[in-house]
Parts: sequence; structure tokens; C-alpha cells
Amino acid sequence: MEQNKINYKKGVKFYRLDRRPRKTLWILNWLMHFLSSLLMKRKTKIEKIGMEKVKDIPYVLLSNHHDFADFEVNCLATYPRRVNNIATLEQHYKRAWLLRLCGLIPKRKFTTDPNLINQCEIVLNEFKAILSIYPEARYSPIGTTAIIPDSYGSLIKKLGHPVCVLLHRGNYLRSPVWNWRKKRKVKTFSTMKFILSKEDVEQKSADEIIEIVRKELEYDEYRYQKDNNIIIDEPYRAEGLHHVLYKCPGCKGENMTSFGSTLKCPDCQKEWEMTTLGELVAKNGETEFSHIPSWFEWERKCVREEIESGTYSYKGEVEVHSLPNTNKFIPLGNAILRHEPKSGFTIEGHYNGEDYKISRPVAGMYGVHIEFDYNHIHPLPCVHISLLNDSFVCFPDKNKNVVMKLLFATEELYKVEMAEREAKRAQRRLNAE
Ligand SMILES: [Zn+2]
Repeated sequence: MEQNKINYKKGVKFYRLDRRPRKTLWILNWLMHFLSSLLMKRKTKIEKIGMEKVKDIPYVLLSNHHDFADFEVNCLATYPRRVNNIATLEQHYKRAWLLRLCGLIPKRKFTTDPNLINQCEIVLNEFKAILSIYPEARYSPIGTTAIIPDSYGSLIKKLGHPVCVLLHRGNYLRSPVWNWRKKRKVKTFSTMKFILSKEDVEQKSADEIIEIVRKELEYDEYRYQKDNNIIIDEPYRAEGLHHVLYKCPGCKGENMTSFGSTLKCPDCQKEWEMTTLGELVAKNGETEFSHIPSWFEWERKCVREEIESGTYSYKGEVEVHSLPNTNKFIPLGNAILRHEPKSGFTIEGHYNGEDYKISRPVAGMYGVHIEFDYNHIHPLPCVHISLLNDSFVCFPDKNKNVVMKLLFATEELYKVEMAEREAKRAQRRLNAE
């Protein structure tokens, strides 16, 4: 059995990620702006700070990511300049040719693509366009900044162009990823800001650059809601919240559920009400966390403790669908998904008369893409494991709420592994002195 290979029937072509990016067609740029105006113009406000400094020159635009509407606001903010967006391959599902003409550059999530730098250089140096990147690489699960890896500092330094950020606020509150089908009536507000000149990028180290970027992309949607007194009184405002707040701070069970404006633990029967200002209040007993992201970070800490005490591991049966190209998901049947501290993710299954094993080690993944309601296959939670030439969407047992925990474990295992490597390097330096 060859690792990381599926015995596809003849005729399956793999999508090529090494193709040259396309300059966005003028007419499509106009059309995207027209459609974005129809959809978002009345719902959003955009302020610009220092943007006159990059009026006619290429630059790197970094945005936070809450919802598909971010692309529309991005389009409103950058028009009439041409933009090339780096986007997930799944955005190209069944319409790859069109999106390539719109300037999208497809990538598989949480992989290191050797073509990336060359493609970015073509956009900036040849097209003189805006290179738009969403460094969080997925929609924010809880409305706060996700990990932005150090490698972005090196990438910006290598590209050597000015950097701006487009920080969206309210898009998560309007359409949280755990219940994206039911929008809330929230106006959004985005700030587009020039943060680093070409000279800054040349003079500063990659570490200094990434620190500035992280600071500029810091956000907390629930704090923003409270500070600005944004009332969200939709009666379904907590529906789906259990996907991210899966662990009960009372009994530590991991079977939370939600309905209407209520979050509930069926194990100990404790209930919390989500207020119209986005805070949680226990209906009985102590309110452990009124600030929703604090509950989320407590869950992360619990997973970290499991990892450090050696008790973390995951094994479960999953339904797998692969995406070698953008035409169609291929059902691969059921398989066993494992997530282990030493070996990372493995998927073991059988397809077309042959066993297969897909592996993604810990060190290669600073995060993993998860969904709670995946519209392309089933409206259920799933985890996406990608290779450079294929992606595997894994649906665990729908009665087990595990995907958020898998994301925490991926991020924390990566941090532990990096810290261990750094400690070893420091020890070697010490020994050499
Ligand atoms: Zn409980």
C-alpha cells in the first residue's frame, strides 16, 4: 500500500495548483463590484486609514475571515483596483474556470504549497495588482483572531511590497459559522489600514513584521458587540453554539446542545441563556463564563492538559469524500480517522479493491479546517484533511460533537511540537558553546 494515495479509477485528474494566476478580467471585476454592492453596500461601512499611500501601487492585503461576505466587502473596499485572492480550492467547486478568470488562486487548506511565492510575485510584480490573503485560513469559529503562523512574516519580507489590513467587524455576529444559514440583522464595519511601507518591510525582521500583523488583525466580536451596544434579539441566536462550546464547565461532559437562545448540558441539565448583547448567563447556579470566547479558551486549556498528561487521542469511524479536482466529491466509503500526539492525523480505509492510508504529521499542520454544516455534501460537522494533490472531507458520527476538539488538539499539538523543537535547538546551541 502506497502512503497518501487512493486507487482511483482511470480518468480521475488531479487539479493543478501550479498554474499561473490570471489577471482579473475588467468586466468581471466590475460585475463582482456590482453584485457586492447589491448584497452588502447598505449593510456595511468601510473606513480607510492611510490608504492613499498605496493608491496606484501593488500591495499585500491581509484580512480577517468570518463569512463569505468578507469577499464582498473586500471587493467594495478595493474597487476599482484589480485583486487576486488566495482562496481554498473548495471555493472553486464546479466553477473553477470562472473563479480563475476572477483572479482567485486556489490552495488546499493547511498545506505548504511550493508554488505560492512564485504566484504571489506574479500578482504583485507583473499584474501590479493587490494580493489578498486571509491568513487565518478559515472562518473564525468564535469571533476572535485565530493563529497566524510565523511563516507570514517571512512571506511578506520575501515579497517586499507594502502591507495593508482589512479588519472586518460584525460579519461573524451577522453570520456565525456555527449557524451561517440564519443571518442576524447586524450592520458590519470594516477598517482598511496601511500598516507597513516597502521600506518598513525591507528594514524590519520577519519576526517584527509578524508581530505588527498580529496586532493589527486582533479582534473580538463579542467585545465589539458589547462595547457598541449591538442588540441581537433573533430568537435563534444561540442555535448551533454547542458546536463550539461543546464542553460543560459544570460537569465537564462533552455533549452540549443548543436551541433558541439557550445552551444546555444534557448530562447535568445546566442551562445558559444567551443575552441580546451576546453574553451567557446561567439559568441556575454560577455563571462560569459570561464572555463566550473565554469559555472557548477554557476548552482549549482542557485539551492542552489532556495532551500534556498523555491522555489525548482520537479514534472514530468517519464517512470520507475526496476532492482530487474541483468537479465532484468522490465518496470513498467509511474509514477510521485517528488523531495522535506523535503521528498526527491518519485516515485508514479501503477503496476500489485496495487499502489506503492518508497521513498528516503534527509538524505540518498549525490548524485544520472544520465545518459545522457543510453545504457541498451533508449539512453536518466534518473535518478536512488535505494533501497537496487531494483533500479528504471526513464526517464523524453525527451524534458525536468532536470536530471543534480536533481543531483545538491540532493547534495545541503543533505548539507543543514547535516548543520541543525550539528547546532542542537551544540545547544544541548551549552544547556547542
Ligand atoms: Zn454538564
